[in-house]
Amino acid sequence: MENYICMTCGTQYATREEPPDQCVICEDERQYIGWNGQQWTALTDMKAAGYRNEFRELERGLIGIRTTPGFAIGQMAILARTLGGNVLWDCVSYIDGETITKIMELGGIQAIAVSHPHFYSSIVEWSHAFENAPVYIPEADKQWVQRPDPVIRHWRDSVKLLPGVTLIQCGGHFEGSAVLHLADGANNRGVLLVGDTIAVAQDRKHVSFMWSYPNLIPLPPSAIRRIAEAVRPYAFDRIYSAWHGKVLVEDAKAAVERSAERYIRQIQD
Ligand SMILES: [Zn+2]
Ligand SMILES: [Zn+2]
Repeated sequence: MENYICMTCGTQYATREEPPDQCVICEDERQYIGWNGQQWTALTDMKAAGYRNEFRELERGLIGIRTTPGFAIGQMAILARTLGGNVLWDCVSYIDGETITKIMELGGIQAIAVSHPHFYSSIVEWSHAFENAPVYIPEADKQWVQRPDPVIRHWRDSVKLLPGVTLIQCGGHFEGSAVLHLADGANNRGVLLVGDTIAVAQDRKHVSFMWSYPNLIPLPPSAIRRIAEAVRPYAFDRIYSAWHGKVLVEDAKAAVERSAERYIRQIQD
């Protein structure tokens, strides 16, 4: 029996004898099947292959966690250390004893929240490693969970995970696509952790939004407006994406507004 992991999207599946025939996340129009066909691995195979997790401080209280060598989509998870406790934002497929020890030294994990299904990866495995920390999955995306477990809690609209830590549903890329607001981040000016809900552009002065990033399918104006409206009530100056170095360092709130307006202008006739 094994919890197989899709090598293209990194999703870990419920325990079974044989790998699934297909990965429902990769079969979705927003993703793609790996160019060498559907392939599976498991945590024991990854450990034997020499994978490790690397930790890097992004700013005080925020630690990026990435698997090396790069695996699947290659996103970075972020451990947010706040006065009220630690939240793991997004997740990576790989976890091992070294990762667990390191995070326990940093205070463990009190809650796990994920921006969208492409980063669900091994959320249940991570939760079990940290005293069954609750995993927050939006009601709207519950059909995408491939390893159901009692640690999963459904939510909608917004939910306060800890003091100053709010999970906000924006929709767009997925109906439940979310961002995490950290009121104390960026020296109390506020931080958004965005996953694929809001994409930091290459110029690091703008952001963008897509229904599919790999297949380049845009979102309609109504979805762009909804994302901008969802984050408007919150004070934030900085945005961290899921990619190391792709950071909107300052003036992020105005950047979201002007980027949303620009995007709508481009897609409207
Ligand atoms: Zn997949
Ligand atoms: Zn995505």
